[in-house]
Amino acid sequence: MKTAIITGGSRGIGEAMVLKLAEMGYNVVANYRSDSSKALTEALIEKIEKEYGVQGLAVQADVSKYEDCEKLVNAAVAKFGEKIDVLVNNAGITNNAPFCELPQEKYMSVLETNLISAFHMCHFVVPYMVKANEGCVISTSSIGGLMGVANQADYCASKSGLIGMTRALAMEFGKQNIRFNCICPGMIWTDMLRGVNQDEVNALAMAIPMGKIGDCDDIAVAMEFLIKDKYMTGQYVSPNGGIYMP
Ligand code: NDP
Repeated sequence: MKTAIITGGSRGIGEAMVLKLAEMGYNVVANYRSDSSKALTEALIEKIEKEYGVQGLAVQADVSKYEDCEKLVNAAVAKFGEKIDVLVNNAGITNNAPFCELPQEKYMSVLETNLISAFHMCHFVVPYMVKANEGCVISTSSIGGLMGVANQADYCASKSGLIGMTRALAMEFGKQNIRFNCICPGMIWTDMLRGVNQDEVNALAMAIPMGKIGDCDDIAVAMEFLIKDKYMTGQYVSPNGGIYMP
């Protein structure tokens, strides 16, 4: 049986990805950070074990910290062995605040949670994939990584950084059959969006050519595609309702 590790697997897009991975037959290691998400993630693991007959593991770790990522990967290896088939770097946060008012620790936190965490996770997981001569790494970037968004300098930089990391690692590990790709979602209904001014959200929805905010499942399906298409590497796919067209 194949194994997948996903960061930020407790709710929102990550939850939909956990369910999709289980549906695809993967044993899933789902990471979360907050104490308040423990019960949620454990219930999700119970659900996939019951409904899909796979095995799961919920692991609390703050992926912005190197030692927590090591702990997360070690827990996965202890439970499922050294073959890690899929890594999904999905954990992410946003500040959505005027740049000059943003304290240093706040923008550092976005960069560390959204971007540096993916470096840490790849640093621990890719050596196992090299050993296996096979692997698939998917990072959840954003349309913010493709275009500028006011009040989101830290977020946009972190998400562009993920695309840069993905391209470079795809070059470095292509011959070892390890593929790296990004998903750049447009606006998706999750807690992240629920926390933003709803008038702004409605106005933005009207600006989307498809006229609606996307669902978490739309992103999980993109992940499935990137896992299944064995010739995709160094790319991004962007389910975004048409709001960004390169
Ligand atoms: P949510 O706020 O719903 O979920 C965020 C997830 O990330 C949670 O599982 C949370 O864990 C986890 N997380 C946050 N910080 C850490 C950390 N330091 N260590 C481990 N886990 C952490 O967000 P979304 O589902 O909306 O976002 C998922 C990804 O998609 C993010 O990378 C986001 O930037 C990206 N994205 C989202 C878009 C949207 O419109 N929603 C658009 C484009 C990209 P916990 O539950 O424990 O807090």
